[in-house]
Parts: sequence; structure tokens; C-alpha cells
Amino acid sequence: MKFQALRGMQDLLPKQKATFRVIEDAAREIFSSYGFQELGMPLLESTALYKRVVGEATDIVEKEMYTFDDRNGDSLTLRPEGTAGCVRIAQQHGMLFNQVQRLWYTGPMFRYERPQKGRYRQFDQIGVECFGMPGPDIDVEVLLLCARLWEKLDLTDDITLELNSMGSAEARAGYRLALVEYLADYKDQLDEDSRRRLTSNPLRILDSKVEATKAILVDAPKLADYLDEESKQHFQGLCQMLDSLGIAYQINPSIVRGLDYYNRTVFEWVTSALGAQGAVCAGGRYDGLVEQIGGKATPGVGFAIGLDRIALLLDQKEKGENYPEVPLADIYVVSMGDESRLNAIALAERLRTVYPDRKTLVHCGAGKFKAQMKKANSHGAGIALLLGEEEVQNKQVTVKFLNTGDQETIKQDELVDFLALRSDGW
Ligand code: ATP
Ligand code: MG
Repeated sequence: MKFQALRGMQDLLPKQKATFRVIEDAAREIFSSYGFQELGMPLLESTALYKRVVGEATDIVEKEMYTFDDRNGDSLTLRPEGTAGCVRIAQQHGMLFNQVQRLWYTGPMFRYERPQKGRYRQFDQIGVECFGMPGPDIDVEVLLLCARLWEKLDLTDDITLELNSMGSAEARAGYRLALVEYLADYKDQLDEDSRRRLTSNPLRILDSKVEATKAILVDAPKLADYLDEESKQHFQGLCQMLDSLGIAYQINPSIVRGLDYYNRTVFEWVTSALGAQGAVCAGGRYDGLVEQIGGKATPGVGFAIGLDRIALLLDQKEKGENYPEVPLADIYVVSMGDESRLNAIALAERLRTVYPDRKTLVHCGAGKFKAQMKKANSHGAGIALLLGEEEVQNKQVTVKFLNTGDQETIKQDELVDFLALRSDGW
């Protein structure tokens, strides 16, 4: 019997994982430079939290959650997104009252979806949540932070910003009535999902990918016409700041976001390079959320980046541009026999202390001298250190520069100084 990964669960092999790491490192550096602090969150929360925060009538809660009873009979859910947990933490630890918070997190999320390119059942997100700031200044900061990340990853030309305002909860309620009234006349022509949403979550219909439904929506009332005055000003303020800062965007009235908690600013960063999975980052403002879970009214804004989709984008580019292979070793230590192997390991330890950024590999296991040298080359090493019987006896080491073939036998004690002097050769 052979075991296989579960459907939609990706195995990240070293090269893929390295791409994820590049993105995460870039994010970590940039988020910190904007004054954001990292948060660690449990993978499991009570099912009730997601029902309350994400909303009963959302795709996530209706059909995508991994929910199970634990041994105590409590209903738990593997986190499908990060905002709920983050808000729960901020509230539980008293981080909200009279304070502002700029937080970020990263890690796996779980959704039972139909797997395809850029859509998995376990996927990684990097998310940001800010509390206590009504915006639109912080909305701008959060968008700038994204823009800087794309810049750092050389993806500025591949990703564009789409913006919308969802107004206040009251304004949206008025709009919802008008939308339902309009759509009621077309009830029989709507797709099944949309028909169901007509009563449960009509705004979600705007997000439909079904052509017949999209056609009906063309003449539907527009949310923009129902916005309250304050939300309009908020949105104008945001757009004006983005204009002066030179951040390009498009206003897209059909962005309503799938989660119940959004109000006012909503946005998506999208790419045309990943087919149907075009959204690489999505977020917005959720001023009513903290209150919804029993806290004091606290403005909030955040987003989540789909790490897997950014990694796909980077991989697609890399294939086009012929990136150089990263060597598996900088220094490869060759030795024969037990005594010499121990010497090799001890010598490698010294080098790792002095050169922590370099990769020092000790040949382990059997292998003739020649086979070991071949390995040194195939690992892309600049230097092979040779420890034959004679070298070990004389406390010497032979340093071979693999690019030129130059080699020199020196005292082991002089190795560090020698390598420092010849740093151009490896
Ligand atoms: P989509 O419309 O693609 O299903 P979503 O609106 O459900 O996305 P969010 O909940 O806003 O997505 O999550 C933020 C980001 O996380 C998305 O823009 C996307 O990049 C990524 N993402 C969401 N679901 C998945 C998934 N199943 N696999 C990979 N990435 C995902
Ligand atoms: Mg989704």
C-alpha cells in the first residue's frame, strides 16, 4: 500500500518551500518597517467563533470548513482564515480598549474546496489586521505595505489594485432591499446558488461567476448609489491619498467580498496570470466585527495574501527568466575512513561558526575519493576540503578551488585565515 497526500493538500518540496520563504522573509521585513508586530495563532478555534465572525451564510461556513467534535464533544474547526482568531486574541488579551494595534500573522488555512491550480484545501496566508484606527489613513498605509511587498518581489507589473466601498451596515441594508426587489423579478433565471442567496446573503450574488446571473446583474441597482455620506467621504479620502501617493487602482463595484464582516473599504489585488484564481490578496475594513463578538465597538482593517498564489506567480516568472540554481553547498568536505571523517566533522563545525551564512556539507556515508569529489561538484560547491590519511596525520587539509582546479595543502589551524584571504575564489 502506498500513501499519497490528501486531495488539495500540497507537499512543498525544498525548492517550492524556498520560494515561500522568500515571500515570507520579504513580508516580515516590510511589515516590521511599517511598525507591525507578528502574532502566533492556534490552528483550532471553536466552530462558533467562525460562525459568528465569518457569517453563517458565507461559502466558508456553509461548505468549506473542516469541522469535527473533539474527544470532549466540543465542536472545533481548523482555521479557514485568520481574522476571526486575530480578533478573538485581541479581545481576550485586552489589546483593544483605548489602544491601536498593527498585527500580522502567517500560516496554513484550511478550506474544503475543489482543488485546482492556486486553490488548495490547505494553503498559506500572510495576513494583517489593524485595530483602533477608523481610516482612511491606515487603509492607505495597509495598501502601501502591499504595494511595497509586490515591489520587493518584483511583481509590481503583475498585480493591480481593485477598490470598492461597501458603505455602512445601514446603507447596505437599504441597498440589500433594493437588490432583492430587483432580482425577485428574475428569480427563475438565477443560478441555484444565487437563488438560495436571495434570502440568505443577497450581496454575495454580485460576486457570481455564472454568466446568466452576471447578465441579469448588469442593470441591477448599484451599491455606490446607496452609500451613506460618511462612507462616501471616507472612500474619497482614500482615493485622493492613493492618487497623491501614486498608487494606481481601479474602482470595481462588484467587489463585495465573501465574508460578512466587511464595511466601507474593500479591496483585492489581482493578477491575470493565474487564470480563475486571480485574487492574490484581499481585505478591507470591518468596523463592526469586534462588537459582533461581544467587545466594544473598535474600527478594524486588514487583508490576507494567498502565499501559494504569489509563489505560483514567482515560479512562472522564474521559468521565463532562467534564474541561477542555488548551490546546495559552498564547501564540501571530503574524507575517507573513521578517523578522517571525525576530523572532517570537527573542521566543518569550526567553519560553520565562522561562516554561518555559508553551507558546509560533510560527505556522509561511503564513497571513494573520486565519487566524493563528483558530489562536491554536483552540489555546486566552490571549495572541496580534502582530508586524506596523510593530511589527518599531519593536521593538514587540502583546499581545492573547484572553479579553477587550484589546490593547496595547509595547516588545519590556518584554514579560516586562508579562506578569508581567498574569499574571491568561492
Ligand atoms: P477566492 O474568491 O479565490 O475563493 P476568497 O475570497 O475566498 O478567494 P479570502 O478569504 O479573501 O479569499 O482569502 C484571501 C486570499 O487567500 C485570496 O485572495 C487568495 O489569494 C487566498 N486563498 C483563498 N482561498 C484559497 C485557497 N483555497 N487556496 C489558495 N489560496 C487561497
Ligand atoms: Mg473562496
